[in-house]
Amino acid sequence: MKIQRRQSVVLVPYPFQGHVTPMLQLGSILHSQGFSVIVAHTEYNAPNYSNHPEFFFHSMNDGLQGIDMSFPSLENIYDMNENCKVPLRDYLVRMMEEEEEEEEEEEEDARGEQLACIIYDNVMFFVDEVATQLRLPSIVLRTFIPEPVLEFCRAMSDIGSSVATIWNTMQDLENSMLLCLQGHYKVPFFPIGPFHKMAPLASSTSILQEDNSCIEWLDRQAPNSVVYVSLGSLVRIDDKELIETAWGLANSEQPFLWVIRPGSISGFQWAEALPDGFERMIGERGRIVKWAPQKQVLAHPAVAGFFTHCGWNSTLESICEEVPLICRPLFADQLVNARYLSQIYKVGFELEVIERTVIEKTVRKLMISEEGKDLKKRVVEMKQNIVVGMLADSSSHKNLNDLVAFISSLPT
Ligand code: UDP
Repeated sequence: MKIQRRQSVVLVPYPFQGHVTPMLQLGSILHSQGFSVIVAHTEYNAPNYSNHPEFFFHSMNDGLQGIDMSFPSLENIYDMNENCKVPLRDYLVRMMEEEEEEEEEEEEDARGEQLACIIYDNVMFFVDEVATQLRLPSIVLRTFIPEPVLEFCRAMSDIGSSVATIWNTMQDLENSMLLCLQGHYKVPFFPIGPFHKMAPLASSTSILQEDNSCIEWLDRQAPNSVVYVSLGSLVRIDDKELIETAWGLANSEQPFLWVIRPGSISGFQWAEALPDGFERMIGERGRIVKWAPQKQVLAHPAVAGFFTHCGWNSTLESICEEVPLICRPLFADQLVNARYLSQIYKVGFELEVIERTVIEKTVRKLMISEEGKDLKKRVVEMKQNIVVGMLADSSSHKNLNDLVAFISSLPT
């Protein structure tokens, strides 16, 4: 008798917050569709297993011990891709051998699993080579669109022999761009976002410890009064920018919740470069934390604006909670996202100059001006379109059904 096997997928995330998050969310989405999910991760920034009892995990020796990966160089990225090849290949070979053994035993009650495909972050481009060697289908999760000016971006743009791409976006939001990219890649294309709303489980995907005390602080603030400030998990700024931002926020006279990630100010451990007595002077009007439960923060009724670096996850999370933005992009896709948010969707103000009076004015414009109200109206409309796009019979769900059917039909 043929064994009834549950299909499994192996996910290979790039070990940084903005990439781990969408990959784990995709894992939750696929798990809810009946797939068994295995996360093959680097030792560096390993995910917290206890937040995801529904997944299996496999740790790969990444050879990065002792290397400062807080802002990875191209060399670090190449090394990681090289070092993980053998560990991933060995693991997959073992899995495939076990599957074969089970198949040969042909026990009626055997409940084995069948590896359907590997889904990898585009920065982990080594997976394509491993999958090709083992004749396993692979699918690319595009967590961002690299600008193909650098050689390594070309490596990430190239999907090799992968059989499909998955995108954390919505067809209705970016139809013309998606059609253009689909024409370029010539493989099936699955925009099934926003992942954090499509995923059934709300378990934390955070690598850093979240400071939940800021939610109690938000509870004490008036509705629609707080500007939330965070530049994500990778960006570094200098102490001059920290000081300009501090005075800009203080002089705006608006309540603020500010995430200053340890290591995010060049040359400092944490926020030592803040003006002397800054926190005392601000008192209850401001709150500074090392890392926040961002999705909860953005969903809080006290939050009225988001001063952001425009990482793609932050962008989607903000729009989904109807929070207009102040855009302070620094590199890569952040620059394009900021342009879209400010010029095309018109739901954000882009900060052209990092200077205290400009920051003060921009915060006040967002929070208390007519122009700010217009942004709010547009972001509410945008969110409505996303909600419509997520209804059971609309694009993201339809694309998800197609993705499930596609993976199930892959030859193994
Ligand atoms: N994030 C968080 N707490 C913080 C700051 C950020 O949980 O204090 C999360 C945020 O919700 C988002 C991710 O970190 O999901 C950052 O991803 P994004 O793509 O916005 O930027 P990146 O960190 O990759 O630059």
